[in-house]
Amino acid sequence: MAKKRVLLLGSTGSIGENTDRVVQNLAEELELVGLAAHSSWERLLEQIASHHPEAVALVDPEAAGKLRAALENAYDKAGALPRIYEGEEGLVELVRETEADVLVAAISGAAGLPANIAALETGKDLALANKESLVMSGSILTRLARENDRRILPVDSEHSAIFQSLEAGSREEVERVILTASGGPFRQTSAEELEKVTRQDALNHPTWEMGEKITIDSATLMNKALEIIEARWLFDLPPEQIEVVVHPQSIIHSLVEYRDGSTICQLGPPDMRVPIQYALTYPRRLPLPTEQLSLPELGQLTFESPDTGRFPALRLAYEVLEQGGTAATVFNAANEVAVAAFLKEEIPFLSILKVVETCLKMHNVVDNPDLKNIFAADEWARLETEKILTLECKESS
Ligand code: NDP
Ligand code: MG
Repeated sequence: MAKKRVLLLGSTGSIGENTDRVVQNLAEELELVGLAAHSSWERLLEQIASHHPEAVALVDPEAAGKLRAALENAYDKAGALPRIYEGEEGLVELVRETEADVLVAAISGAAGLPANIAALETGKDLALANKESLVMSGSILTRLARENDRRILPVDSEHSAIFQSLEAGSREEVERVILTASGGPFRQTSAEELEKVTRQDALNHPTWEMGEKITIDSATLMNKALEIIEARWLFDLPPEQIEVVVHPQSIIHSLVEYRDGSTICQLGPPDMRVPIQYALTYPRRLPLPTEQLSLPELGQLTFESPDTGRFPALRLAYEVLEQGGTAATVFNAANEVAVAAFLKEEIPFLSILKVVETCLKMHNVVDNPDLKNIFAADEWARLETEKILTLECKESS
């Protein structure tokens, strides 16, 4: 059987590295035919040496130059040098010009959207980690998948769990889906203490090791807010059928309740290789050397309701879904800008959601947006958030 051809965007990040490990473990089944990152050229060089892809891309032109020089040095001229693309356009060209069965979307943030669109348009399935792209343009990505008869397979652990649990019944039989949330590092931090938490505190996630942006999103519960919107699009669910429960151990990855009172869920020790591999081998389950689940060792699993007072992100997610149109685009973009400012220690932790909410209030929603409206709303929100941040910084100084 021919190997499945996999294009991996964001190969040097947390999901990218886990995908690398999944592919190495299933070398008879899967091959990486293309790799891309932003600027980590040295790590990309190592990945090229182990996977021999046909093409690679680096968005940062300077890093692409260094990679090219290093590759020309390392490969004898007659050898198979991969095609090298650079810049944002280069990333999209890589996707369009490389034949592949599936694209693993593991770039962080809105920057992943153009490549994801190109993947669906050129007949590739999407194994989606990059939730921001679906949040900002859910109607467009799902329409493109339908029109091109492609799948959007979830990599996000909660959505993979729902996807797997949905196999137990038919869609009309589903009562609701329940996303689990670890609660992040500040689950038990009081509102007063939250005012003082630092960048370092926020980057200290209790159960998952991930990139910086999503780790901050987990601390504000914005990650769960984005996941509510992600679930709405992946599974075509009305917001009232999507709920969140806090489950600090991150063992149950999410649940689906059916109308006969049965609730089906997927469990396992937190390990992103599991949902990544399932997305790449679906509907098959292949061996994966992971830690075995030991229930006696765990002893107990606990659950609590999320506190939307301290963490307003979840409330905002439902408001955004209610508004529809470009609201989610603005929600995502404002958050990306605010998180970047927090990571640069320009604003305090609690300002992240304040800034997002202020930006949302100022937005005039465009209904049934096309791609132009989406990019315009994204750009507007970024500029507007920068302005709000300038005011916020003045106030707090
Ligand atoms: P990381 O920050 O660890 O990695 C991001 C990757 O994307 C890197 O390869 C980076 O390259 C590349 N990248 C960043 N910005 C750009 C850009 N503008 N253009 C092109 N490439 C870029 O992130 P994660 O792996 O943690 O997350 C990736 C996505 O997966 C996010 O959308 C996140 O929400 C989602 N996700 C992650 C989970 C996890 O466990 N980490 C779980 C569920 C979802 P470089 O190294 O050169 O900067
Ligand atoms: Mg998740």
